Amino acid sequence: MNKSEIIEILLNDPDEDKIFREADDIRRKNLGDEIHLRGLLEFSNICARNCFYCGLRKDNPFVKRYRLKEDEILACCVQGWQLGLKSVVLQSGEDGYFNISRMENLISQIKSATKLAVTLSTGELARADYFRLKEAGADRFFMRFETSDPLLFSKYKPDSSYIRRFDCLRWMREAGFQVGSGIMVGLPGQSVKSIARDIMLFKELELDMIGIGPFIAHPDTPLAGSNKNNLKAALKVLAVARILCPKAHMPAASAMEALSEQGREMALRAGANVIMPNITPEKYRGDYLLYPGKIALSQSPLETVQSARELIKKMGRKEAQDYGHSLRRQNEREGA
Ligand code: SF4
Repeated sequence: MNKSEIIEILLNDPDEDKIFREADDIRRKNLGDEIHLRGLLEFSNICARNCFYCGLRKDNPFVKRYRLKEDEILACCVQGWQLGLKSVVLQSGEDGYFNISRMENLISQIKSATKLAVTLSTGELARADYFRLKEAGADRFFMRFETSDPLLFSKYKPDSSYIRRFDCLRWMREAGFQVGSGIMVGLPGQSVKSIARDIMLFKELELDMIGIGPFIAHPDTPLAGSNKNNLKAALKVLAVARILCPKAHMPAASAMEALSEQGREMALRAGANVIMPNITPEKYRGDYLLYPGKIALSQSPLETVQSARELIKKMGRKEAQDYGHSLRRQNEREGA
């Protein structure tokens, strides 16, 4: 599929069910019917940046800020492991308190107390820091580039550098991480042409994980009121990304479910193969609002994991029992 074909599908394809079915077939052939559960732990909502689309942006005065203590983070990870999860995703704003030494300690403690695979989603770092975190035992790093359109990027991420963002993704790879990235679909001013370029970039970057979510306008950000329902558009992008990147692990984003009760199921039928049950303690969950309408605000970690398992069962799929490491890199190691 080349760029013009992608644009044609995103713009004009009248039979979107066909593209969803095709993506689902490719997912089945390459990754089987197993769905990976990755526990999402939002350990700090403090952020030094001011991304226009994000509810956690530094200048949003309405956020009740929190930061979990290291022993709380560890306890959440142990709980996730006891619930049968194989992976945890440690996500936060860019919070300077969690410097590299603290993160190294934390990762070592999690690795000693559990056998969890650890994904970090904590933003931009210096090159050497990615190496230190990998050395400490973290397995994967996830950071969305959000859009490959440099003008849109600098408009909506005014205190980030487009070039540095991609440098960071390269450094993660050099440090030995399994690397994930992705985009937001439906940002005001985002063209279909630029989305097609985003999808081509997923392939060029040889991503191990790809996260695609619909833009949902947060009322306390500069993009308040610019909302439309971007679910179908995000599902289409997910499906095309699956066709182009058959081996990547792709979550059914909970933001999809914020737009429709069946959002995650729809994503799992359009190429996704991962669910990320939220294992953040309930008392903090409502304060980590990247977008409004977040699901499962009052469910305990046990309940979010159970509801993910129920969804898997309802869909006739199976919960993966392995770690869900990068298939692409496994094939590379085996010379496939
Ligand atoms: S998107 Fe990330 S870096 Fe930007 S304001 Fe939100 S939490 Fe901070």
